[in-house]
Amino acid sequence: MYYQSRSLIIKSMDYRESDKLVTLFSEKEGKLKAIARGIKKPGSSLRACVQPFCHSLLFFHQGRELDLITQGRLLDFYGNSREDIKRTLHCMYIMELLDKSLMDRAAMPRLYGLTLSILQYINNNGLNHLVLRYFELQLLIQLGYRPVLDKCVNCGRQGGFKNFCLEAGGMLCPDCSAGEQNGIVLYGEVLGLLKLMAHGNLNTLQRVQASGAALEKLELFLERYLEYHLERRFNLKNTIRVLKKSLS
Ligand SMILES: [Zn+2]
Repeated sequence: MYYQSRSLIIKSMDYRESDKLVTLFSEKEGKLKAIARGIKKPGSSLRACVQPFCHSLLFFHQGRELDLITQGRLLDFYGNSREDIKRTLHCMYIMELLDKSLMDRAAMPRLYGLTLSILQYINNNGLNHLVLRYFELQLLIQLGYRPVLDKCVNCGRQGGFKNFCLEAGGMLCPDCSAGEQNGIVLYGEVLGLLKLMAHGNLNTLQRVQASGAALEKLELFLERYLEYHLERRFNLKNTIRVLKKSLS
């Protein structure tokens, strides 16, 4: 059986003599691995379509174990990002995050659209750390971990609380947080940015001027929140930290 889908290339590695094993995030099928056959032969038209963080329309043939990529058309290469090492590394980081956090064969069209717009944004405007944090938070939300920020996640009491509990996935009021050791203190600008990113879109976000200190705290918070869930879900220790080492 044949099918086609727009896809973002997460990574590709050598496989047998002239093939590549490609990990990709497809719009219709979600994350999957497929084989691009004969790609290392001169003149292979597929070669350009399966480079990391390319956006391509791919045609697949369903195989017994792994599907084959039979044809492809490059839709976007993100050329500006590719010419700039920092942007390239951050785009690779986004791909790695998808690789580490998505289940196989579970379509996530909203996340797919969001990833496209972030790659486009970085290509057209350069790096913006708030936009990267926005991607991390939206990824968590799409995976089902929307943080509860305006009430106590445990008892539902309304109020401006400051103690975020990773395990509960939200703020705890003073009663519910008694004895809680691992809370993260969130308030002021950082909390405001989180709320904005949880509900806002890329257009509103790119006009926001955040302080360096708030961005740093935001980054640390999202790092811990992501790690907490990825570790529990996939048994990956310190994934984010390792991934981020390659960015500096
Ligand atoms: Zn409570």
